[in-house]
Amino acid sequence: MPPVGDTKDNKSIILEYVNSSKVVIFGKESCPYCRKAKRMFTDLNIEYNYVNLTELTKGEELFTTLKEMYGQNTVPQILISGQLVGGFDSVEKLHSEGHLLPMIAGEIGLGVEVPDGDYDYDLIVIGGGSGGISAAKEAVSCGKKVVCFDFVKPTPLGTTWGLGGTCVNVGCIPKKLMHQAALLGHSIKDATSFGWDIGNCQSATHKWEKMVANIQDYVKSLNFNFRAQFIKKGVKYENAYASFVGPHRVKYVNRRSEEKEMTARYFILATGCRPKYMDIPGCEYCITSDDLFSLPHSPGKTLVVGASYVALECAGFLKSLGLDVTIMVRSILLRGFDQQMADLIGKYMEDVCDIKFLRGFIPTKIEKVKDAEPGKPGTYRVTGLNSKDNGDEIQVDDEYNTILLAIGRVPCTADLNLNAVGVNFDKKSGYIKCNERECTSTPYIFAVGDIVDGRPELTPVAIRAGKLLARRLFAGEMTLCDYINVPTTVFTPLEYGCIGLSEETAIETYGSHDVEVFHSNFVPLEWQVPHHDFQCYAKLVCVKSLKKRVVGLHIAGPNAGEITQGWTVAMKMFATKDDFDSSIGIHPTCAEVFTTMAVTKDSGDSAEAEGC
Ligand code: FAD
Ligand code: NDP
Repeated sequence: MPPVGDTKDNKSIILEYVNSSKVVIFGKESCPYCRKAKRMFTDLNIEYNYVNLTELTKGEELFTTLKEMYGQNTVPQILISGQLVGGFDSVEKLHSEGHLLPMIAGEIGLGVEVPDGDYDYDLIVIGGGSGGISAAKEAVSCGKKVVCFDFVKPTPLGTTWGLGGTCVNVGCIPKKLMHQAALLGHSIKDATSFGWDIGNCQSATHKWEKMVANIQDYVKSLNFNFRAQFIKKGVKYENAYASFVGPHRVKYVNRRSEEKEMTARYFILATGCRPKYMDIPGCEYCITSDDLFSLPHSPGKTLVVGASYVALECAGFLKSLGLDVTIMVRSILLRGFDQQMADLIGKYMEDVCDIKFLRGFIPTKIEKVKDAEPGKPGTYRVTGLNSKDNGDEIQVDDEYNTILLAIGRVPCTADLNLNAVGVNFDKKSGYIKCNERECTSTPYIFAVGDIVDGRPELTPVAIRAGKLLARRLFAGEMTLCDYINVPTTVFTPLEYGCIGLSEETAIETYGSHDVEVFHSNFVPLEWQVPHHDFQCYAKLVCVKSLKKRVVGLHIAGPNAGEITQGWTVAMKMFATKDDFDSSIGIHPTCAEVFTTMAVTKDSGDSAEAEGC
């Protein structure tokens, strides 16, 4: 923020602020529209300078000058490249009509001019996962000479995998397939209610080894396919670990420890994250999601440590495959998600799936009781602690065959030698700060995917960001990646899909007086005959002052992933509650609940869905 000195006249002070950033928001403390504007630019990952007039000694005087200079009497006053765009409504309209991001991109262009030079490649991509592959393929299709480095460091257990990154090998793909295996188990049981005679379904058993072998065969076919695509398109693939040695130059080391160097004009970092481990005695006996999907034997009785996406999804399918599963939860479930929905997901796992929860506990020690044998896991004793309000500690200890740590992920940036090229990154967390153009603090080095600070860590986000970045770098396009209303689904036994804001964040942003929540319980038709009476739930979080714009969509129910994807288009087009109401449902589906919601939370009326 520029210094505000008494010697400067007010106009000069304003102009200093205006020139301090591409986007400048002049606002006041109590103004809800200022909060909305800040939220919007934050969600879009667009850097802005917020000038809080209430905090400045000469704030009122400056406001008067602002009014004279730009002719607008209200706050926020939002300026892009020195021009007043208007208040929140104007900027909002620009975004909803698809003009805001191109306007910002057009103003800044590529933002850097990197001189052409005598480089080996136009682009070096480090990391062959979702983001890296997408960027590399797009860049060659723009006629550029591109190399992609991908190297997987083995887990402490020695697990490793092929080209494609987390999603394909140890993330979305094997996870969703194991979720499917779990759902099929439930369907077998339901089938008898629909007249199928499948013998004694209670004795249907699951063969872990067979599931893993078939899923791994599929994963290997994807690895092969990525390599084939690289060859076909002309991306040079190097199965080697790359790190910077100086400006525009990396060294890379392959499996045989052979070291070479290479130069490029541009770099895209897409090295992804790896699971965290804990600093407790016996941590070496734990596995992570990097090992689970190719584990050669059934995990047996399992303790899952952690309570977010990875933990709940893995615990969910392991239990449904017939294992004894306990989840050790440090604080809350699904931090960052709508907590009413998170609690419902937990309730289903606890009450319907019979998964045990150790709430408020952290593991403190793990001891080996029995060695693993070929085809069988070992046995380990886990001690955990829970600090009660009165300060006393409650200790638990129990024996498990597998301890799965799902306590978050660390960006793979520490070994890239980023200091050699001046790329700023958070030394503690490892995340790289990028601007809205995915550019790091070094103008010729960009980053996409999970390693970028503040971006949703999801495959389609990494793919989109990588593709758009390559097109901006090499095809003269301007489109920025829009990080607002990114949909996601947690594939727990009862799936949870959402788009936009949680109820809590909506209230924080718009104020409780301006937020109206429509909601409905429902029992899917398919559940009625086998008598599953758990109440699924959906809600729409709306903002009254924005013509009841839907800013948050949430559903906990079967196929939530498929349902949520469809409604994403409506949310991207800033649909209002009226738009949802005027859409005709497809009967009898779960998704139709969003077309018939009439009960608001505030009314206190029953949210039971009416029959057809
Ligand atoms: P990655 O896909 O992780 O790829 C990075 C690659 O770079 C890796 O192969 C790595 O080994 C390599 N690498 C690292 N450093 C170097 C180096 N110095 N030199 C060479 N190579 C290097 N997202 C969803 O959208 N839906 C889901 O259902 C979903 N499920 C998930 C389930 C699990 C269990 C996990 C862990 C994640 C899941 N995700 C899901 C998240 C998704 O997998 C990631 O967001 C996505 O893979 C990120 O892509 P990326 O390109 O940033 O990195
Ligand atoms: P998160 O960082 O989201 O969650 C970490 C969890 O571990 C939290 O519950 C946290 O608890 C807990 N935790 C952290 N440290 C400790 C500790 N020392 N002891 C006990 N518990 C601890 O990580 P995830 O690995 O679950 O997910 C990473 C990302 O991967 C997600 O953000 C998501 O983007 C992506 N992903 C997407 C999926 C999908 O799309 N379906 C599926 C899986 C992953 P606390 O709340 O107390 O901090």
